[in-house]
Amino acid sequence: MQRLRNFGVPMAGDRLKDYKDKRDFCVTSEPTGGSISSGSQIFVVQKHDARRLHYDFRLEVNGVLKSWAVPKGPSTNPKDKRLAIETEDHPLEYANFEGVIPEGQYGAGAVIVWDAGSYRNITQRDGQKVPLEDALEDGHIAIWLEGRKLKGGYALTRTARGWILVKMKDELACVSCDILKAEPRSVLSGKTVEELSAK
Ligand code: MN
Repeated sequence: MQRLRNFGVPMAGDRLKDYKDKRDFCVTSEPTGGSISSGSQIFVVQKHDARRLHYDFRLEVNGVLKSWAVPKGPSTNPKDKRLAIETEDHPLEYANFEGVIPEGQYGAGAVIVWDAGSYRNITQRDGQKVPLEDALEDGHIAIWLEGRKLKGGYALTRTARGWILVKMKDELACVSCDILKAEPRSVLSGKTVEELSAK
């Protein structure tokens, strides 16, 4: 897990409006979104036992976490196309959030940090590197993940139904692995969502 460093940079106020509007920070222990910047580009995957279990895939882009809810979770098999529904930008500190969002709050249920690490933008068009912001706007990004669990190239592509998350074909792909089943625990606490819910 990358340590988040506070540079005192005022950031992302308006971009977090949706995030803040949905939450009552007197009730939930989720972060409010302050002035934090990480030293490098981080990614995090949170397993979220909400009304419907899903995995939240988040990438640091320009001081916020770009976020997608992935109902079936990420896969290491390039043949799996996983629907990824874009959700509101989250504050960078959310990458460290693990806990139980109280009943009646938005997204009520247990959240664990299922995977975390850093990533690199490897998006190219016609042999040229494409900045991540442009790639996101164009609806296709390719990234190289250096997580504890997820490693190698992943692509996110916007379609009419939503975004699709796919493992790219590289030496780190694994057709027969079921990483969600094999590695259910938090990389922060070692707990499962079930253990966190039951506390
Ligand atoms: Mn969620």
